[in-house]
Amino acid sequence: MKTFYIETFGCQMNAHDSEKVVGTLLSRGYQQVEEPDDAELVLYNTCSIRDKAEQKVFARLQEFKKHSKTKTFGVLGCVAQQEGEKIFDRAPHVSLVAGSASYSKLPEMLVQLETGDKRVTGLSLDTEDTFETPMTRRDNPYKAYITIIEGCDKNCSYCVVPYTRGPERSRTFASVLEEAAKLSAAGYTEIQLLGQNVNSFRAPDSDPSRPLGSDFAELLRRVGQVPGIRRVRFMTSHPRDFVRDIVDAIDENPVLCNHVHLPVQSGSTAVLKAMQRQYTRDEYLRRIDWMKSTRRELTLTSDIIVGFPGETEQDLQDTLSLLSEVEYDAIFAFKYSKRPNTPALALEDHITEEEKSRRLLMVQEHQRAIQIRRNARHVGRTEEVMVEGFNKATNHWLGKTTQLKTITFAAPGELAGEYRRVMVTRAGPAALAGELVQ
Ligand code: SF4
Repeated sequence: MKTFYIETFGCQMNAHDSEKVVGTLLSRGYQQVEEPDDAELVLYNTCSIRDKAEQKVFARLQEFKKHSKTKTFGVLGCVAQQEGEKIFDRAPHVSLVAGSASYSKLPEMLVQLETGDKRVTGLSLDTEDTFETPMTRRDNPYKAYITIIEGCDKNCSYCVVPYTRGPERSRTFASVLEEAAKLSAAGYTEIQLLGQNVNSFRAPDSDPSRPLGSDFAELLRRVGQVPGIRRVRFMTSHPRDFVRDIVDAIDENPVLCNHVHLPVQSGSTAVLKAMQRQYTRDEYLRRIDWMKSTRRELTLTSDIIVGFPGETEQDLQDTLSLLSEVEYDAIFAFKYSKRPNTPALALEDHITEEEKSRRLLMVQEHQRAIQIRRNARHVGRTEEVMVEGFNKATNHWLGKTTQLKTITFAAPGELAGEYRRVMVTRAGPAALAGELVQ
């Protein structure tokens, strides 16, 4: 039996792709191992959203170069799609290079490798393929990802995804609902709908005259009614396609979690324009107002890029004021980094790394104070927690609320996968601590 090791970099889409790749390999008789040293086939499922992530992959390949005679190396995902056959020049010991839009051809590529081909590539950006496979081997037995849409048509000027994942292609309502029902029957209680831009979900079998976002709102309503599913989340949303109907759908059904991740990237309309985000600060804030007027309290999280070409001190201040106005529960903030093939390469990038670091720190510190305030509001509340794991170092269980807050608590017994009520007793900037309510 052949052995394989896979390491995943990047977002949930990549994590879920790896689950599909693992399932495909297991179905072909491969055995998964925990260490690259023990594997005959070593795969890296890569991310190229930032330069750092890309460098990490090449560092890993370099690290294992000495094993090139005994192991087969494969590069999957965004770096594979972006760099293509150039990877063979940078790392000649690599035998497989395949982008995510070619994974459905993975079984054929594996046969080629097994029968002695030295170099195999899968780099076509198939405009139909959504890589649905019944072989997915999910890592977590309680919560599962379901991809509903692949690719992205938005072309934000800093983003490499449209070049690495190809154009948008959605699944049908029926296939998503069937997968959700199967997962429920298998004991899963939480589902996360995935896509680079889930709001753009437009089922191939739906009426093309329906307004933008309606299909996604309907999908949320229908997945929220699958018997046995207690929580539904989704990631990631683009503000332009985030229509009121989506907020209404969430408000109608508590199975749809009280949390929305809505990446803003910048609080300055001028920077948003240069980023080609297709919305203004005011339009974004209108969507926030919808979410703040729901009957249930929704938490909001976001992504921020600092140091985008042309960002002025005033633009940065606009981002800080937007953080204060929205009061996010968490943000993921990054320094802008140039990515190949993207329109932003044409913009003059005169902001130094040092200055980008200063701006990042300002944003993080500003947000930290907001999070301390936001989390303090939970002290004294009793929250329902889906228990996700046990931290042996602290002897505490760790779970998530519907608002995606992490709560730790001590309790005897085996609680993983269960829903428990926990009274919050303490709050920090990143997590809450509490006591089990019997
Ligand atoms: S919406 Fe913009 S940032 Fe998101 S994946 Fe598409 S191009 Fe990239």
